[in-house]
Amino acid sequence: MSNNILNIALDVPLDRLFDYLGDGFDAQVGQRVVVSFAGRKLVGIVVSKSANSEVPADKLKPIFQVFEDGVVLDQATFKLIKFCTDYYQTPYGQALISALPARLRQTKPAVSRKQFAYRLSELAKAQTVNDLPPRKAILRRVFTALSENTELSEAELGKLSSGWCKAINELEAMGWLNNRQILAINTTKFNSVESILAPQLNNEQQLAIDAILENRNRFKPWLLHGITGSGKTEVYIRLLQSVLTEALADDKNTQALVLVPEINLTPQLEARFRMRLPQYVLVSLHSNLSESERLQNWLAAASGAARIIIGTRLSIFTPLPNLKLIIIDEEHDGSYKQQEGMRYHARDVALVRAQHLNIPVVLGTATPALESWFNAVESNNTANKYGLLKLNQRAVAQSVLPNIRCIDISKSPTQDGVSPILIEAIRERLKRGEQSLLFINRRGYSPVLHCNACHWIAPCLRCSSRLVVHLSQKRLRCHHCGHEQKIPLQCPSCGNADLHPTGHGTQRLEQTLNVLFPTARITRVDRDSTRNKNTLTDILSAVHQGEIDILVGTQMLAKGHDFPNLTLVGVIDTDSALFSPDFRAAERLFAQLMQVAGRAGRADKAGEVMVQTTFPQHALFDALRSQDYTAYANNLLQERATTQFPPYAYFALIRAEAH
Ligand code: ADP
Ligand code: ZN
Ligand code: ZN
Repeated sequence: MSNNILNIALDVPLDRLFDYLGDGFDAQVGQRVVVSFAGRKLVGIVVSKSANSEVPADKLKPIFQVFEDGVVLDQATFKLIKFCTDYYQTPYGQALISALPARLRQTKPAVSRKQFAYRLSELAKAQTVNDLPPRKAILRRVFTALSENTELSEAELGKLSSGWCKAINELEAMGWLNNRQILAINTTKFNSVESILAPQLNNEQQLAIDAILENRNRFKPWLLHGITGSGKTEVYIRLLQSVLTEALADDKNTQALVLVPEINLTPQLEARFRMRLPQYVLVSLHSNLSESERLQNWLAAASGAARIIIGTRLSIFTPLPNLKLIIIDEEHDGSYKQQEGMRYHARDVALVRAQHLNIPVVLGTATPALESWFNAVESNNTANKYGLLKLNQRAVAQSVLPNIRCIDISKSPTQDGVSPILIEAIRERLKRGEQSLLFINRRGYSPVLHCNACHWIAPCLRCSSRLVVHLSQKRLRCHHCGHEQKIPLQCPSCGNADLHPTGHGTQRLEQTLNVLFPTARITRVDRDSTRNKNTLTDILSAVHQGEIDILVGTQMLAKGHDFPNLTLVGVIDTDSALFSPDFRAAERLFAQLMQVAGRAGRADKAGEVMVQTTFPQHALFDALRSQDYTAYANNLLQERATTQFPPYAYFALIRAEAH
């Protein structure tokens, strides 16, 4: 008996495969099929075939349909998803199906737009170009091209002539054509607008590139630790250049995957790659694409046609048949962690994928995640030891590091959250025609109740953690043990009646600034103000054009943008992160502050960074002032070792969602 029982993965919350009969279909492993399950039609993926089933033969149901559209998942993808299923405790079918673009999860054929490929019919093969009217040049050109190729897609015909459509219609009317519906694959290359001169690499960059390329054919994680502007992106570009020129057997082309935290925040990276590597098809994969764009790009990646894939966390599951290098930019970024559905960390999945494929993976950042740092520096941890590569200098000689200072707001009272020193500094920038950025750290915003007079911070009376202010309900709540109480009217420790939650919203800050600087052009950037797809891009270009004087924003602004005329960064609220119940809050705050500090003075103008805090003595600020990640990281690692927190111990979170 042949293997006509199909073992199919379905998007259902059961961690097993389901057996169906493949009779009458030529379904291959990796193909999408439609089956009936519990009275519904579902898309499934054939994971394997077998000759026998535990289900009695007369209970086995046949499949309805096989999609013959060329989408076939490979064994490498199965293996990666299998790992995630075990590691993250997610049903296999759910993990597998959710890794597909939405269009491929539907029970109807996934055609983004009807696209055809054409070939000559038997009738036409007996003809020559001279059987066509001599004046019809386009018709003759299309016919000649078709007779020289077995098949041409619409895209390929489009390159012959813009009048291809009319020619095809005529040939069809004559009975000279056969066509076949295909999935459109986007393989557009971009022409370099101007020839961009590659800079001469400095020593540290060269050392990093050499080290990675010497080990290009084996699994090896590299931590590329370099401050903002130290030339990490240049290192990525050179690595891509080397890896993509490598020839594989059977004329296959190598591919490289570049993960970025949030692609709508890093259009500059994409533009730079396109400019410097115009000869390679580049696609991006992120949630800002339309479903059909996403399908197109995914297909280009999965077919091997796309050579460079830039994507956010979900793209780590894209099948890439010839993947030779993974780069993770800003590897410390929290948005690599998926918090819904299958909870995975894209950096960790990337490491496993690289290990499966025996390829290098480069983790680039100015402020490594403590876990990554630990793997790079801890000498008794030899298992998967990372190679540590450092870029210690800014690549462009005249760009100097910003001057960083703390403003002690317990000594100088603020005006609606902004201290007089900072107000004065902004005023000076306005006079000089330079730009200022005011930054509020609001991710995981959990304000604590704090007394400015005696530094009392509302503690939880049941456990040792701190209470979080829930203003709308006017209550204090412990996020650890669930304890709840009213917000006290005065400080229980000194009687001060001016108690307030540390933490200011961007909107409130914007209002304050409008009052302080009525003639300044002020713009707010946060998730609410940039919900629209193009708003952020518009704002960023307005900043570049010098149409904005003061930017108010959250961590969205901290990443990757380069504003040459921005010379002042003010950080409004840091204290809530210093005392957050999340043990990683301080680490994240440090990373964000290093990053925003990098926004100031990138060009030839020296930048200044002012951090408002009631705790200027905190070790975090010492390290920040000297821009010394290493000192701070080692300090934190020691703390974690003493308290037995990650990476020295593992945590498991057990969550119950019912009473
Ligand atoms: P990062 O990614 O670490 O922030 P970039 O790669 O963006 O740093 O480099 C910062 C700036 O320095 C860019 O304008 C880049 O073109 C330039 N640059 C990078 N490497 C060199 C180099 N070796 N010589 C001169 N300029 C360089
Ligand atoms: Zn007090
Ligand atoms: Zn508590």
